[in-house]
Amino acid sequence: MSLSVLDIFKVGIGPSSSHTVGPMNAARQFVDTLVTQDLLDATHAVDVGLYGSLALTGLGHATDRAVLLGLAGHRPESIEADEAEAVVRRVNAAHRLVLGGRREIEFDRATHLSLHKRETLPRHTNGMRFSARDADGRELHQADYYSVGGGFIVCGDEQQAGAPRPPAPFEFDTARELLEHCHDQGLEIHELMVEREKTWASPEALRVRLLEMWRVMQACVQRGFSAQGLLPGVLKVRRRAPKLYRQLQTQADGPLQVFDWVDAWALAVNEENAAGGRVVTAPTNGAAGIIPAVLHYYCHFEPGADEDGVIRFLLTAGAIAMLYKKRASLSGAEMGCQGEVGVACSMAAAGLVSALHGSNAQIENAAEIGMEHNLGLTCDPVAGLVQIPCIERNAMGSVKAINAARLALRGDGTHKVSLDQVIRTMRQTGRDMSTIYKETSEGGLAVNVPEC
Ligand code: SF4
Repeated sequence: MSLSVLDIFKVGIGPSSSHTVGPMNAARQFVDTLVTQDLLDATHAVDVGLYGSLALTGLGHATDRAVLLGLAGHRPESIEADEAEAVVRRVNAAHRLVLGGRREIEFDRATHLSLHKRETLPRHTNGMRFSARDADGRELHQADYYSVGGGFIVCGDEQQAGAPRPPAPFEFDTARELLEHCHDQGLEIHELMVEREKTWASPEALRVRLLEMWRVMQACVQRGFSAQGLLPGVLKVRRRAPKLYRQLQTQADGPLQVFDWVDAWALAVNEENAAGGRVVTAPTNGAAGIIPAVLHYYCHFEPGADEDGVIRFLLTAGAIAMLYKKRASLSGAEMGCQGEVGVACSMAAAGLVSALHGSNAQIENAAEIGMEHNLGLTCDPVAGLVQIPCIERNAMGSVKAINAARLALRGDGTHKVSLDQVIRTMRQTGRDMSTIYKETSEGGLAVNVPEC
């Protein structure tokens, strides 16, 4: 199926796109199937099994809550954090859930949701099995889903979940094909993306949606600056963005203060994400701080920055994300953190070059640098929470993205290692990486840092 930039950038809730947003969408889709197959009224119980990485780190990543919210008919893009909290509290207290907002059934988390930590379903480590039963315990419907990263879900039969859509022109699987289309059409990458997106929406409507994403990112930063206290979970991590923001407003400028600002913007977003707040998945929730931090950098520190530059940034970053989605993966459970923070860094570097009117060759160069120096980055979240190392890692990834863009802009786009070569290397590295470093919390910092 042709990908849209709005598949890459979408509003979701924290803390994880693969472990929160994807499972919520899968649970909701399962209930939608019960409705379309006219099975909802006969359903008396729903059993949910979480497998592999979803079972190992799902509780820290709020997968259990996400499934429950999806079964209740909620969508990640529209539910507010406090509403989600209230729904979860109600279900847990009453052991009853209103399936799809229409049919009340018994739902006891201990009975109806099981974690299969040593088992995986055949196609991906982030597997889910949903089963609906009638009053006599007979199975009415069963379906497997996979959360394959960035909030994307795939059904058990390997069809992309969701409604089919018309194919876009200028399809590309590699950076080389993308650059060839641009060369043949005489277009910059962001312009080619607009031509593709015309298949589904007018350029005006696309612009509105992208600016909406930018506003959600800005609102997330502001909430992150004004929130206080500790993040949820056993680690009792204190939010750092509010204090850093206050310091930056009162302290004199220094030559490196730009780094402090970039850190503050990234920390604000990822602290909000860790708290279950509203973020733009870009391309995942764990790495959601990098695109907003680099966009804020562009708007605050680059002369002549404007909304057109923001649009160029997002369209170009979206094109780069598609390459990783098609040729490797956006899933920390498949690729380690190089598939999340690494990809976001690559996207942001390319987006910034495009915003600053760099050439297509310089954009490809920036994206390549952004990934090359994240190769091998492991995923080892302490206590299964998207906090350590995730939050700080976004600040580091943002600074790296800006530097990658600057390196590329100082050159003419010619370079030794191509983006396609680095994506291939990333995929091989991810496959060779031990599973203990792929969102299982069984290795790395997760076993060397005490949980409390
Ligand atoms: S370490 Fe990276 S990939 Fe793993 S949960 Fe954190 S942000 Fe996601």
